[in-house]
Amino acid sequence: MNKRQFLKGSLALSAVAALHRQRAGAEVTVPRDNWAGTFHYHTDRVLQPRSVDEVCQAVKSVSSVRALGTRHSFNGIADSTSAQISTLGLTDFQIDPVAKTVTVGSGMKYGDLAKALDKAGFALANMASLPHISVGGSIATGTHGSGLRNGNLATSVRGLEFVAADGKVHTLRSDRDGDAFQGAVVGLGSFGIVTHVTLAIEPTYNMTQIVYRDLDFAQLEHNFEAIMNTGYSTSLFTNWQHHQAWQVWIKRRVDQDGSAPPPANFYGATLATQKLHPVLGQDPAKTTEQLNMVGKWYERLPHFKMEFTPSTGREIQTEYFVPFESAYQAVLAVESLRDQITPHLFVTELRSIAADDLWLSMAYQRRSLAIHFTWKPEWDAVTLLLPQIEAKLKPFSPRPHWAKVNTLRAAQIDGVYPKMSEFKQMRKQYDPQGKFVNSYMREEVLG
Ligand SMILES: Cc1cc2nc3c(=O)[nH]c(=O)nc-3n(C[C@H](O)[C@H](O)[C@H](O)COP(=O)(O)OP(=O)(O)OC[C@H]3O[C@@H](n4cnc5c(N)ncnc54)[C@H](O)[C@@H]3O)c2cc1C
Repeated sequence: MNKRQFLKGSLALSAVAALHRQRAGAEVTVPRDNWAGTFHYHTDRVLQPRSVDEVCQAVKSVSSVRALGTRHSFNGIADSTSAQISTLGLTDFQIDPVAKTVTVGSGMKYGDLAKALDKAGFALANMASLPHISVGGSIATGTHGSGLRNGNLATSVRGLEFVAADGKVHTLRSDRDGDAFQGAVVGLGSFGIVTHVTLAIEPTYNMTQIVYRDLDFAQLEHNFEAIMNTGYSTSLFTNWQHHQAWQVWIKRRVDQDGSAPPPANFYGATLATQKLHPVLGQDPAKTTEQLNMVGKWYERLPHFKMEFTPSTGREIQTEYFVPFESAYQAVLAVESLRDQITPHLFVTELRSIAADDLWLSMAYQRRSLAIHFTWKPEWDAVTLLLPQIEAKLKPFSPRPHWAKVNTLRAAQIDGVYPKMSEFKQMRKQYDPQGKFVNSYMREEVLG
């Protein structure tokens, strides 16, 4: 081969490579830290496909990869040492008013989806504390709001479309695929890249939100269930001092008598007459409207407004799910560590979640209390404290939130998920070579 032929050959090869790269989605520059800046990703290679076909090409073009949504997880669950496929180019959606479903690109943020649904006269059953997170990333980790009668966000899923390790499109539907569907919805990103999600929707509704101050924990001993069942969604906030929740947030649906004037007293707590942020010192302007003002469902279900930074902005989060039947004892167990916890804490939130049948949902066949910690960004102190909290919660078989920081490892987590071995088997069918397995999956899930 002479020099001219060689150059021609290499030009042709690089043109093919460029075309391949293009079809696999452009490589994009995405921040290399999670949203909070408290976890650093180990790869600089991020592909951003804009169609399902491009996702297929992207998956074929890499030997190891993880999906990346809006980067709101706090641990290494989305991390990779090779490549990430950002889903933020997948934001199409289609409403089926007859089936009462919406099929949405997995990279769409809940806040954007909510506005589009509302415009068409529809709503979702629940949202998380913030609207900024992607649909695909949220359901992959069992993200939840509150309400003993409300399942987590993944319980609204009716269908999944994903690209598995073979680079092909697979679908699973709730009405067709039984166990396989229940196993894959809270999939931790390990079945492949979810491209579209079909969600149940309902007619749009309005809500109100009220806040009470200073609920004595003594009230929880006999009234925990009634308190968490007040309204549509209830959250308690505490810093663990003074044996009390400093705020109780109650979200009520107007179509369920939710605009009636609230009583001034709630189990001894006092109705707030000013808007509040759950974290002391943060600006209440960032939070959704309170004071019983009627508004749209998506402007009340989350605590934080889409146009502001939610929570504090730089933090670490941890959360453990315990059976609701043991909720009060679990709260007392954590409270016994209050003097170690409080100095490092922005706030704790207590929420309830209905039981479901999704294999790796933190509420799998357990009505749950979720005990959440928003920590100051103090890694050393937090990682020393977590094993102590985990030891206190051990009698309650805690399930850690998949997207938040904990020190439990696969061997400990295995025992609290009855369907874990079936999950591992099914994952292998879609990913026999472990293309979607990262260190997090090895250490915290697969063992
Ligand atoms: C301020 C704040 C408030 C929060 N509030 C709540 C709350 O109220 N309730 C709650 O439960 N959680 C809450 N979280 C946690 C958050 O919901 C989860 O971290 C969620 O996974 C974030 O979605 P994401 O798109 O940012 O996912 P990422 O962090 O980008 O990814 C999370 C996981 O999902 C996988 N993934 C993402 N997209 C896909 C896809 N398309 N296909 C397959 N796998 C995918 C990733 O590989 C990774 O494993 C909060 C987080 C923050 C920062």
